[in-house]
Amino acid sequence: MNVALVSYEVHPFAKVGGLADVSGALPKALKRMGVNVKLFMPKHGIVDKNAQKFGLGIEKVLEGVDVPFVNGGGKVDVYRSHLPKSDVEVYMIWNPEYFKYEGVYDAEDIGRQAIFFSCAVFGVFKALDFKPDVVHANDWQTGLIPVYLKTNLRDDPFFRDTATVYTIHNLGYQGVFSREYLEFAGLPVYLFNIDALEFYGQINFMKGGILFSNVVNTVSPTYAEEIQTPEYGAKLEGVLKVRSADLYGVLNGIDYEEYNPATDKRIYVNYDINNLDKKYMNKSRLQEELRLEVRDDLPLVSMINRLVDQKGLDLLMDVADYLMMLPVQFVLLGTGDPKYENFFQEFARRYPGRASVNIKFDAELAQKIYAGSDIFLIPSKYEPCGLGQMFSMRYGTIPVVRYTGGLADTVFEYDPVRKEGNGFGFVDYKSSELLKSLAKAVYFCTMRKDDWRRIIVNAMSTDCSWDRSADEYLKLYNIAREKQ
Ligand code: ADP
Repeated sequence: MNVALVSYEVHPFAKVGGLADVSGALPKALKRMGVNVKLFMPKHGIVDKNAQKFGLGIEKVLEGVDVPFVNGGGKVDVYRSHLPKSDVEVYMIWNPEYFKYEGVYDAEDIGRQAIFFSCAVFGVFKALDFKPDVVHANDWQTGLIPVYLKTNLRDDPFFRDTATVYTIHNLGYQGVFSREYLEFAGLPVYLFNIDALEFYGQINFMKGGILFSNVVNTVSPTYAEEIQTPEYGAKLEGVLKVRSADLYGVLNGIDYEEYNPATDKRIYVNYDINNLDKKYMNKSRLQEELRLEVRDDLPLVSMINRLVDQKGLDLLMDVADYLMMLPVQFVLLGTGDPKYENFFQEFARRYPGRASVNIKFDAELAQKIYAGSDIFLIPSKYEPCGLGQMFSMRYGTIPVVRYTGGLADTVFEYDPVRKEGNGFGFVDYKSSELLKSLAKAVYFCTMRKDDWRRIIVNAMSTDCSWDRSADEYLKLYNIAREKQ
């Protein structure tokens, strides 16, 4: 089966959040299962630097490929690399005007850039003579791909058998633009219609992906249910309900080869489930590096996240000083909204030696934190899947979460009687609930050592690998082909 996975982010070439992790890991697992999968992404400015950092070569393979449909036309060059430690090909699409930006989402007019990229992909498939059985599109940036296939390309023999799977990684970002973008996209005007792309007087790319693909999925079973309700549906709940028979939830995994505490070169000391004392060596080295007091008796509570409203930071801000009344240290790594950046920087100044706040994107420090801390906090308002809890569990760091979306599907409350469960959490979105849950984790960590060891073992044994989920994607690809 030929599969084209199309994404704006692919780890390690360009990453902002979880989308990159998924695009960088799922294809490797699919390839192992015999699927002929190729990746297609924009060649963002940052790609060259990251490729170099990972020792990955990039070669130009095509020049001057025509971009169909888009108003004014255009041409792209195509570069090729591969995912680390695999033979999965990554095709990168470039044009001097549309892809002159350094970061993934830096374009002034990202709507036009996304349209141009989506159109270019079709030209590139033909130029490579790569006939996909399934195009797997991801998030709003590629939401128009299924729309073109069902409209402008409907009678094109090259794509006659091409089915589509559309994955929603985060419903909070839908790609909503004024109706003129439809003209730029070269799509039929009748799509400006409530049963198609129209959305409160504008057009919505994600709505296109949802309505025009053969199969829709999101990244956890709980989120797939939640988004059909007004609380989580971000005004698309009605549209999602229309597709509910074709709407699936497939949990993400993480790359178990790359993220393995026994071999990860980024952490201070390697360890596994049988020598957890070495995990604590990571803790003391991390404390030194972050200028925290080197104390093994204080649980180190960490958080690594984009600092945006979705992540439940308002709850944490509410109880930050109460948190510090517990016998803990706190470390934060993240960038985002200045209101959060400023608050936590000021907070760290008030707790020297006990709180470390790092406002930057730093993949290496992230791994050191996953390895070196005791408790990992994710109190999200909503969380399509969440990867942080999976990384932390893999490194024996116990998650404290709000039970929503993928967090509810992967973290289970520890039961000291049955010795089951891999973390702690709360349901009601309230700061007092967050504090209670954290206090419970701190209690087990400091006072119930045998239980804590058991929780760590349970967490490290939780299967968050891609193999399980890749199998489910393969099923979705087959369902999509049947429906085509
Ligand atoms: P989202 O996709 O909403 O950002 P996820 O939990 O799915 O959330 O994925 C977040 C990913 O980004 C994780 O791999 C996390 O470790 C990483 N990450 C987030 N912020 C940073 C940062 N400042 N530095 C390094 N890694 C980060």
